[in-house]
Amino acid sequence: MQNTNLAYDSKVEGEIIVTQADAVINWIRKHSVWPMPMGLACCAIELMAAGASRFDISRFGMEVMRFSPRQADCMIVAGTVTYKMAEVVRRIYEQMAEPKWVVAMGACASTGGMYRSYATMQGVDRIIPVDVYVSGCPPRPEALLDAMIKLQDKIGRERSARNLTARNHQPAQTAALAGAGKES
Ligand code: SF4
Repeated sequence: MQNTNLAYDSKVEGEIIVTQADAVINWIRKHSVWPMPMGLACCAIELMAAGASRFDISRFGMEVMRFSPRQADCMIVAGTVTYKMAEVVRRIYEQMAEPKWVVAMGACASTGGMYRSYATMQGVDRIIPVDVYVSGCPPRPEALLDAMIKLQDKIGRERSARNLTARNHQPAQTAALAGAGKES
């Protein structure tokens, strides 16, 4: 009788799964994101809510918030990035090991938000590469979870096997830091 099973069947496959390296690596990575909570202002409260029981970010395997860059692979920038903090944000990002991703949470982290002032960086993507932007002031925890799911989709499409030797991320920009204080 013809086997119509589409799923893995140990009796047929002999306990061997044939797949692509990218599929395995990406599957592991997307379900084990360890965030670095870069809470800089009010958006961080919504980030905390996303980790609490009502929204429960652990449903997506992301509850292991890490405050050490050695142990994190996804920086969630939640709040206003001032020039005073920009160098710190970038240094922590650079201390994170590859592969790593960045989520800009909220209007301030994405664009500077309402703060068009000499003290506020007009988007954290001026100093580090951002993978997903979250709109809103503040975005609700559901919006952050939606962004994290989009990040999972993005990780799932990466050419990870090829990137094991040459990471694809663009080098962080330096011009914004050099221009600190020149915003009008
Ligand atoms: S986007 Fe709104 S809630 Fe978030 S840090 Fe800026 S001002 Fe605060």
